[in-house]
Amino acid sequence: MALLVMKFGGTSVGSIDKINNVANIIEKQLIDKKLIVVLSAMSGVTNKMQEYIDEIESNEIIENDLILTSGEAVSVGLLSAILKKRNIKSIPLLGWQIPIITDSNHQKAKILNIDKVRIDKYLNDYDDLVVAGFQGVDVDGKITSLGRGGSDTTAVAVAAAVDAYRCDIYTDVDGVYSTDPNLEPKAKKIDKLAFEEMLEMSSTGAKVLHTRSVELAMKNNLTLQVLSSITKERGTLVVDENKLIEKEIVSGVSSVSYTHLTLPTSDLV
Ligand code: ASP
Ligand code: MG
Repeated sequence: MALLVMKFGGTSVGSIDKINNVANIIEKQLIDKKLIVVLSAMSGVTNKMQEYIDEIESNEIIENDLILTSGEAVSVGLLSAILKKRNIKSIPLLGWQIPIITDSNHQKAKILNIDKVRIDKYLNDYDDLVVAGFQGVDVDGKITSLGRGGSDTTAVAVAAAVDAYRCDIYTDVDGVYSTDPNLEPKAKKIDKLAFEEMLEMSSTGAKVLHTRSVELAMKNNLTLQVLSSITKERGTLVVDENKLIEKEIVSGVSSVSYTHLTLPTSDLV
């Protein structure tokens, strides 16, 4: 059965209503697929955790990562519970349970390994795995975080590890735009662009996706789709250059001077 990885950002899981909406999207996809769903914390939660850390002026990197990554346990637990109420075979998984092994660079940890055999076993027993983004565990068993906005990178790394056919990143914008649609009403949504173009955009400050997630997708030739959990329209595909059939779209994008691009902010929370 086809395997799709979906990632929902903080604004997409920002309330129980919104998590129910995510469950609706998942239910539709489950008709003909198995799913791995990666979540961020509910919007605002990670910021709140950072405020607590700042308030006690903690320099304790082990504790800080434990605190920072706690919001994902809540969103993952809530979504999986809602799915089970709908009789969907779902399991909530934190980073250490898979495990997602990282190096020990707290707050900017790099993923070293993801246990594919374990994930395959879970996929045998369940139709939907709900996985906490942004977190991992180092070889000493300490909880690590990947850096703010890092759940995109979790989603792409998991998708690459299990050979998913695509990774859909749901956010609060319905795709990648040539200019900020909030400032320019005629801004056009880009249907398809190459990894390189997406990377160039993020290097000039357009923070739709966590940069490392795009690099990782490019390295693994994994197609990404950026789309909205509200509008339910087709989003923007980020693909290998060779997969760009509609060449005129590419050149259209390339002719835009990236330094003038302003894109909607990400759902970094
Ligand atoms: N919750 C984390 C953050 O706010 C990770 C993420 O949202 O991607 O940075
Ligand atoms: Mg984000």
